[in-house]
Amino acid sequence: MAELQDNALLLRRVAYGDTSYIVHFLGKTQGRFTLMARGARRPKSPFRASLEPLHELHLTWRAGRTGMGTLTDVERGGMCMDTSHSLEGLQLCAVAAQLFRDGDPHGFDELLRAFKLLAERQVDTGLLVGVWQLLSDSGLIGPLDHCWQCASAADDLAWQHAELHCPDCGGGDAVSVGLRRTIAALMHSVTVRMSARDLTMWQAMIQDVLRQHGLKPMNVCR
Ligand SMILES: [Zn+2]
Repeated sequence: MAELQDNALLLRRVAYGDTSYIVHFLGKTQGRFTLMARGARRPKSPFRASLEPLHELHLTWRAGRTGMGTLTDVERGGMCMDTSHSLEGLQLCAVAAQLFRDGDPHGFDELLRAFKLLAERQVDTGLLVGVWQLLSDSGLIGPLDHCWQCASAADDLAWQHAELHCPDCGGGDAVSVGLRRTIAALMHSVTVRMSARDLTMWQAMIQDVLRQHGLKPMNVCR
């Protein structure tokens, strides 16, 4: 059977049988898909060192006759971020694994962009910037300059049930113009700083979006 190839990011590995893994990937052209990595847990398997998250991988596999394909080769490219950002990088993988499900053609470019945003920033804002970008790419959040219900550009927007509302569309916790402008600026610039208070509020907004959509909240421990 013909071999197929794609560039991919590893989302998660699940042990299978005594020596193998089922591996979930986001492929550049394949989107989200899974492959069987036979023998990958054996000490001398060539897959052992190369099947890693946070790296760009070049995969070769044989398509399955009916179900899952079988991995035949992995070339590991460079790491997508500095190792000091790897805990946050794994959190971005966990969020992406929930946003892009099997068969979704998207995910690779989105996660790579989130990695890049994280890599360029301090760890305190990098995770939030990366997750915010993933949520935006998935259509779960909108722009911060208008109400997500009626699109009116009111100054006094508020946060309720994981949405930004104008006073006519619902109340909630005020989201200041300053915070909204700082978030927008942070998405595009590595030099913007955010106050501890704004960071806490933004983090709570993100956790709220994750929860409202049935996704696991971020684990922000540093
Ligand atoms: Zn409104």
